[in-house]
Amino acid sequence: GEGTCGIAAGAKEVYNTFRSLVPDAEMKTVGCVGMCHQEVMVEIIDDKGDAFLYGKVDKKNIPSILGFHQGDGDLQADYLLRSSMSMNGADYLTRQTRIVLRNVGQIDPKSFEEYRKRGGYNAVEKMLEDDMSPEQVIEEVKTAGIRGRGGAGFPTAVKWNFARSAEGDEKYLICNGDEGDPGAFMDRSLLEGDPHSVLEGMLIAAYAIGATKGYAYIRAEYPLAVEHFGRAIEDAREAGFLGKNILGYGFDFDVKIKQGAGAFVCGEETALIASIEGKRGMPRIRPPFPAVKGLFGKPTIINNVETLANLPWIIENSGSAYAEIGTEQSRGTKVFALAGAIKRGGLVEVPMGMTIRQVLYDIGGGSSTGFPIKAVQLGGPSGGCIPESLFDTPIEYEALNATGAIMGSGGMIVMDTKSCMVDIARYFLEFTQIESCGKCTFCRIGTLRMKELLSRICDGEGTMEDIDTLEEVAHQVKSSSLCGLGQTAPNPVLTTLKYFRDEYIAHVEEKR
Ligand code: SF4
Repeated sequence: GEGTCGIAAGAKEVYNTFRSLVPDAEMKTVGCVGMCHQEVMVEIIDDKGDAFLYGKVDKKNIPSILGFHQGDGDLQADYLLRSSMSMNGADYLTRQTRIVLRNVGQIDPKSFEEYRKRGGYNAVEKMLEDDMSPEQVIEEVKTAGIRGRGGAGFPTAVKWNFARSAEGDEKYLICNGDEGDPGAFMDRSLLEGDPHSVLEGMLIAAYAIGATKGYAYIRAEYPLAVEHFGRAIEDAREAGFLGKNILGYGFDFDVKIKQGAGAFVCGEETALIASIEGKRGMPRIRPPFPAVKGLFGKPTIINNVETLANLPWIIENSGSAYAEIGTEQSRGTKVFALAGAIKRGGLVEVPMGMTIRQVLYDIGGGSSTGFPIKAVQLGGPSGGCIPESLFDTPIEYEALNATGAIMGSGGMIVMDTKSCMVDIARYFLEFTQIESCGKCTFCRIGTLRMKELLSRICDGEGTMEDIDTLEEVAHQVKSSSLCGLGQTAPNPVLTTLKYFRDEYIAHVEEKR
């Protein structure tokens, strides 16, 4: 596994060691399968075709692992996660439903052929060869019931219809890969590990809305994602899946990469558009909505990386097959990045409707620290803190909103009973305060005042009045800010005040 997490854990050295010890073996690198807690991971397929998946491989344990396969030594059960004969800890994978991550960790992301062998670009071929009209593609996506995976959960087909029916000699499709939440790495892993699935999704979306030009907006801090996606564009173009008259069906579409400079606010659609146009990335008032007047004044649809990666599966398997997964209001699956005080951190894809508890315990394996899990921060700095008492909440847009948190893009940061929730709230608020673009007063000044109040409380200098003021300012920032950043920035504070007010009071009372 040579995703960024694998490389950080030493995958390159492991690769080179295997290469030097078994020079004749066929070797292949893949993206991150999602078990980041087990990196570096290596799968060995022996000459009988039996597969053995090892975790936590390093230079030191390679000789003993190889020894077993070369008939000299015992099976290294400590590192064996899964083999054709046994499973050990691989329930992390078996409890998931993988649509978006169907190829990640399986294929070489730099290989167009491997993507094709696993059915890649079949959906685009089907769409064009079956002569599906753009309206039929939109209808299929509407039947699927998929909602935007970037955070807001707006129905994808409804959004597409706005752009489809908007007047414009040119239309744009943008892939939003500006993943900026601390602790979130869904988009990165997907772009690194299976870039063609996102590109194929872009082709489907572009065809549906009538776009001829596309941009993939990817953070510059994700160099491997930029490299792999760039390679995917070149290979797809060479194979006739991008450019003029795609596969001879008169459909024109091409994609450019725009690297984002790391401003969290550029994940907001209008700020992202401004950034591509070469302006400072600041949100603007809507309407006009981007679907009507977006990039360079033309109708534009911005879809998140994960939303796009679902589309080939939907077109190939049908919208109704997709709609069978999940719940009435929230169809399909959702990818989460599990981080913090969790035993098995990494990337998981689960059907909507699974509970938070199932994700944290059945897949994540519970606390990694020996202290019980107290809460989970869902949705990054825009999300909220959900206490253990609400862990049976199903993963659905509306059910999560009712807790005060949001689905967000999928960050799940786990906190144990040693964590101070006031400190957590301060951490996230500090992040959004720094990332505020400064355009509107409530967000620019309000978040700063909130940060000062939180620091005072954390430092044992706060008063009960400070807690009330903090809550009041939080509500004002939430209701009066221009864009999603300011409107959601108070969520960590408001949810911790709602569920962990006693900890705020304890800080104040400690002082006395
Ligand atoms: Fe900028 Fe914050 Fe206003 Fe959004 S809410 S426009 S980030 S100042």
